[in-house]
Amino acid sequence: MIKVAGMYKCYKDVDVLKGIDFEVRKGEVVVVIGPSGSGKSTMLRCLNRLEEPSRGSVFIEGTDITNPKTNINHVRAEVGMVFQSFNLFPNLTVLENITLGPVQIRRENKLSAMKNAENLLEKVGLSDKRDVYPGSLSGGQMQRVAIARALAMKPKIMLFDEPTSALDPEMVQEVLQVMRTLANEGMTMVVVTHEMGFARDVADRVVFMDGGRIVEEGIAEQIFRAPIHDRTKAFLEKVR
Ligand code: ADP
Ligand code: MG
Repeated sequence: MIKVAGMYKCYKDVDVLKGIDFEVRKGEVVVVIGPSGSGKSTMLRCLNRLEEPSRGSVFIEGTDITNPKTNINHVRAEVGMVFQSFNLFPNLTVLENITLGPVQIRRENKLSAMKNAENLLEKVGLSDKRDVYPGSLSGGQMQRVAIARALAMKPKIMLFDEPTSALDPEMVQEVLQVMRTLANEGMTMVVVTHEMGFARDVADRVVFMDGGRIVEEGIAEQIFRAPIHDRTKAFLEKVR
């Protein structure tokens, strides 16, 4: 589903990504961990071209999205993204937040977009919130709406950038539960998170980044029990 080869990202004279090679198979859940500033968000953002890699290629289902001829709106519709900061439209109701993309970008008919949005709200446990504005929701509820909104575009891949980092502790699990369900349904997912419990239970693979590089990757059990690199060990000791 995703193949990244020799990807670099430089801002002016700062190298943020220094040669990333990375693959994700269909239905796989990959958790990306690493210290702050290691390039996790930048890498994720390059996967749907919110950022443009300075060098290298990013293939999504065989399409090179770094090719200027690639329709980037099409790519963004296939690759959903959920951010730490929800980014809901405050002046639209929950339902309108979810139907906006499908109607405006996917040109879906309004009624079917509404039906789908209602199903998604049920899935994330928020059917009773369809007509309220985001301002009246808790952080956990907002994030679940953000997930529903991303899913409404019928993406083939979901990217999550620290989806629970801005939440009060009691709301973390309700969001992780929605993500677990999604993973169980076979969604291809790349998740940047510090939730090691989630990584252990849900990840097929864990990738540890540091200094703009992938230092180590492997199955979660192996990375947590017996990390090979000292930097991985040091990081895991801090977050455990
Ligand atoms: P992480 O998500 O792992 O915390 P980021 O990808 O956000 O890391 O950032 C990696 C590095 O890139 C940091 O040193 C950050 O300061 C730098 N960086 C990120 N975005 C920009 C930008 N737009 N301009 C310059 N430097 C940036
Ligand atoms: Mg980040």
